[in-house]
Amino acid sequence: MRTPLVAGNWKMNKTVEEARTLVYSMSAKLREIKGVDKVLCPPFPALLAVHAQLEGSDLGLGAQNMYWEEKGAFTGEVSPLMVKELCQYVILGHSERRTYFGETDDTVNKKVHAAQKYDIIPIVCVGETLQQYEAKQTADVVGRQIRLGLANVDPAFAVRLVVAYEPVWAIGTGKASSAQNANDVLAKVIRPALSELFGEQTSQAIRILYGGSVTGSNAAEYFGCSEIDGALVGGASLKVDEFVAITQAAAK
Ligand code: PEP
Repeated sequence: MRTPLVAGNWKMNKTVEEARTLVYSMSAKLREIKGVDKVLCPPFPALLAVHAQLEGSDLGLGAQNMYWEEKGAFTGEVSPLMVKELCQYVILGHSERRTYFGETDDTVNKKVHAAQKYDIIPIVCVGETLQQYEAKQTADVVGRQIRLGLANVDPAFAVRLVVAYEPVWAIGTGKASSAQNANDVLAKVIRPALSELFGEQTSQAIRILYGGSVTGSNAAEYFGCSEIDGALVGGASLKVDEFVAITQAAAK
């Protein structure tokens, strides 16, 4: 049995003060929801404040990215050692990082290995662009992202991995993938690729999320699918009622 997981990717939104207010208004409601792992991923500057607010609660904290080196002359970067002080999770390889900041399967792989070294749970994002979807290249693209991004990861660590299938055409567009399409990609592409890498038993333990325009109204459709273990939520994670409704749907 895989415990469902819902993670809110706040992206580049909320100042420290705004983050405090948002957490204040959602944390009590989220704490009441049992049977689902809940993770908030604010921007770096807000992590310390949110970490203090979440102390003693069952809400997890995640960073939205990190570098793979521990320290040194890497201006502007944040290291796994720094993330580890505050967070249990880190989002890696989000499509916005791949598109705007030149992340590749190789850099994602280095970051996953850094997460392994520092025992931070990576939420590894994969997904095809609209052009690739229309050219029916989803299986090739997503299969490759899994194989290269997770290459040489220790199976003992892999059981704790989280993969998020986020078709790029569905992120922030309001054009969500159908639940059936998402479930098919998980069942026919992602889990078989995980099985190839880590063996069938380990692959069955890895949680796979769907991400892309998930809302309080459509969440239940996804969570009703056999392969979908939760959601990575962008826009709706900034709205208390929406994020709470999505989390409630995951708990059912
Ligand atoms: C995301 O940023 O990971 C995401 C899925 O965004 P949205 O829910 O806004 O589509």
